[in-house]
Amino acid sequence: MSEHTAQSTSQIVAEGLCKYYGQFTAIEDVNFTVDQGSITAFLGPNGAGKSTTMKILTGYLAPSAGNASIAGYDVYEQRLEASKVLGYLPENGPLYPTMTPSSFLRFIGETRGIKGAALKSALDRVAEQCQLGEVWHKAIHKLSKGFRQRVGLAQSIIHDPKVLIMDEPTSGLDPNQIRIVRQLIKDLAKDKTILLSTHILQEVEAIATRVVLISEGRIRFDGTPSELTEHAGLEDRFYELTKTEGATA
Ligand code: ADP
Repeated sequence: MSEHTAQSTSQIVAEGLCKYYGQFTAIEDVNFTVDQGSITAFLGPNGAGKSTTMKILTGYLAPSAGNASIAGYDVYEQRLEASKVLGYLPENGPLYPTMTPSSFLRFIGETRGIKGAALKSALDRVAEQCQLGEVWHKAIHKLSKGFRQRVGLAQSIIHDPKVLIMDEPTSGLDPNQIRIVRQLIKDLAKDKTILLSTHILQEVEAIATRVVLISEGRIRFDGTPSELTEHAGLEDRFYELTKTEGATA
């Protein structure tokens, strides 16, 4: 066990988050922290509350109750500071189909206030990190889904954030594209803290150093992948923890 407190290294904090849509509870009392340098899989079946939680953590959606912070900045009280240290890859990110990766990423960089030599070096960095060289000047609508996802990833890291939140980053990709995107995520984790949502069990084994499992809007498990599978296989544990009533962590 390490000596440090969770607070000193937590880059993402969700504290008592609740979201109600009328009578419907999308998430209830969601608490977890993500430590610096980890790749945390936010795992759960469809409809579990992953996107809702991530939209709250990234400041796109106000919670009905609770608090969220990124790198120590409250997502609502210190919105601007939080947005500077955070990159967000939404599930179907807005890409401008007629633009090229080059013009789109330049535009995103400019809207983030990056200029001149710093913008050029940011564009060179993301082109290299996301391996976009061969498609740099092709229209986005002509690219494969895998390349489009890499352009989305590039926009989320153009400002070199410390924290990266990704909603289902490999969803809808073919096996080769999945491998490439997972490797990119692992490379990015060398200097970033990453939270990624997924409903795919293999993603946990392939990439995660930590798992937070959500089902029906409630956290059911929070620990390492090996703790999750200590007593049973991943599929059995997932089933046990996501079946409707009586599930405990
Ligand atoms: P996940 O990302 O895990 O698939 P979501 O966070 O998208 O789950 O959704 C959690 C639950 O909240 C689902 O039952 C979904 O139908 C519901 N939900 C999400 N957004 C809304 C909304 N705007 N209005 C009403 N219900 C919603």
